Parts: sequence; C-alpha cells; structure tokens
Amino acid sequence: MTVATAYVPDGRPGPGRLREVDLDVLAVGPAELVLPEATVRDERGVTLFDDDGMVFEPAAGGGPLAPAAADRQARAFGVVNAAFHTQRALRFVSSLLNRPLPHLVVRIGMHDQPRWGGGHYRLPHPLEDGPVRAAGEVHLGGGRAFLAAPRYFHAPAHNAAIVYHEVAHHLCRHTADFRLNRLRPAHRQTNKKIALDEGTSDVVTAILLGTPDIYGWHRQRIPAWDRRRRQLAPQWTMVHFHGGPDQDPHGDGTVWASACWSARERTADPRRFDAMLLRGLELFGEEADVTVPAEQALRRRRHFSRLLSAMTRADPGLAPGVLAAMAAHGIHLGASNAELREAARARALAGMAAEGTAI
Ligand SMILES: [Zn+2]
Repeated sequence: MTVATAYVPDGRPGPGRLREVDLDVLAVGPAELVLPEATVRDERGVTLFDDDGMVFEPAAGGGPLAPAAADRQARAFGVVNAAFHTQRALRFVSSLLNRPLPHLVVRIGMHDQPRWGGGHYRLPHPLEDGPVRAAGEVHLGGGRAFLAAPRYFHAPAHNAAIVYHEVAHHLCRHTADFRLNRLRPAHRQTNKKIALDEGTSDVVTAILLGTPDIYGWHRQRIPAWDRRRRQLAPQWTMVHFHGGPDQDPHGDGTVWASACWSARERTADPRRFDAMLLRGLELFGEEADVTVPAEQALRRRRHFSRLLSAMTRADPGLAPGVLAAMAAHGIHLGASNAELREAARARALAGMAAEGTAI
C-alpha cells in the first residue's frame, strides 16, 4: 500500500475532504499508475511522478492560468485522485459480484483540442478518435472551465462523481450489456448509451458518494428541479420520462436513478440493496435474447421493468419493499417504458382533475 492524497466524499457539495489514503499500486510510470484492477494515465506527455511518493496538492485544479509547477502538481494529484476512486469503485463492485471486472484503462487529458471538461466511457469502433481497448476505457478531459466560490479549475480527474459515473458504465458493459456489445465484433462495438445505462451509472455514483446530489459541486448553478442537475432526490417519476431516439438518455435515466435511490433509502441494509442491483445487472446480462430479432432484443433491453424484474429474482426477500418504492415512481413490472409513461401521465391528470386543478 502506498500513502497518497485524494478527495474523500463527505456528503457535501464540493470535491470532498482532502485526506491521506491508502492506494494499492503495482507500478509507477512517468505519468501512469498501474493498479491491480486498472491503469490510470495522463496522456499529455508531462512527467508527473518521480521517487517522492503519491502525496500531491490539488492546487485548485491547476489549469491554464496557474504557474507551471502548480499545474503539474494538479495533474499529478488528478492521476492519483482518479486512481483512488477507480480502485474504490471497482473493489466495491467486485466485493458484491464476487468477481473482478476486466482491467480498466483510465486516460486523462484526452480529446484536449479544444479543451474538454467532461468524461466518457468508450469501446472500440472505427469512428473513435484512435484505438480503444476491447474491454473499454474511461476518458477524462483535461478541464475547460473554472468553478466559482471557491475558484477552482474543474479538472474531471479531481471530481469523484465523474470518475464513478464512467467506471459504472464499465460495470454495465460487463454485466447487463444493455446494447448487446458482446455479440458485436470486438472492434465495432456501439458507444450509444440508453437511459438505463445512464441512470444505473448515476445511482452507483450516488451510492459511492453517499449523496443523491451527485453533481452538486460542478453543477451547483443548475437548480435541483432541472434534470440537467441530475439530483436524484427529487421524486422524478415516469411522468418526467420522454423516451425516443432524440432524447438525452441522461435526463430519462434520472427517473431510474431516482427510483433506485428511493428504494435504497427504504431498505434497512443499504448494502443489501446494492447487492440486489448489481446481481440484477448480472442476471439481466445472462438472459439470452437469441430467439428474437436483434432490434426487438435491443428494444426490450431498454425497459426499466426488465432490470427491475432481474433485481427481484436476485433478492426475492427484498422485492416487496423495492417494488413498492419503484411503484411510487411509476415503475412496475411487465410494461414497456412508453406504457409506464402513459399510465403515469394518465394518473397524474386524473389526480389533478380530482383535486379540481384547472388542466
Ligand atoms: Zn454516462
């Protein structure tokens, strides 16, 4: 174990508390940490590590306005911080699934012309910007914008929420496999995400952060009632679900994430809910779709009710409470997302009419 510094989630909006942590590191390169479960590397060609250990200052994110030494310090901290949260997330997953996920590569400072402040999970495809490993990679930008109060250059590697969300896509790919990538050629997988993938990644992020306000730090200016904030605590229900190929899967995914968070809050042992969710993803992925046409199989794999069904099979004892919590969000077994949306909207309209609200 190596002593390192990282932000540890403290349940408040912000990067977390700066603390000394233990990091299990196998090897150190000039800008790379090799862990048992992941390799984390800054791709911008600057040597960040020497023999002086893994204790660095965040330097308020560094960035283009910082002195070169501060920016280098912030980049080194970013690699270590991303490594800590990647390791924490992957160990959380493997402890519940009783198996490791394929080795993950996390690349920082990607797609940096022009500057990029986001993160994404990528699988190989000819249209990707360079080769990607078949098992999947997390790409993090070098940062693009400053956050106010206190002023901070928002480098994604400094933000545990972004790291957790992208690592959770790796979990989804190697369990539920919503887009049936395992049936596609290894070099021609799809990177299109569906709402279940985004929502599951958001609720895993909330679980690891210990707060439903997962993006409360860098999206603090977006109000909680706006779906772009991705605050899971508001009661997002199927009334708010849009669906269709032109919709942002993140916004629709927030309905699923919010329902999962409610169900977890109702569970006496939250870790039992976490196991149910992850085992449900695994069971979902094991369901064979070979008897139906590919388009139909993919359509069915978008249904919230199908993952919910897999979860109830993963832990039947927990099912009644989880089903009740999901029902409050308009999610029931045995219906498509569109059917759930229409039923939820009809109920909402009937409720408003009964209350005498003008509609
Ligand atoms: Zn995502």
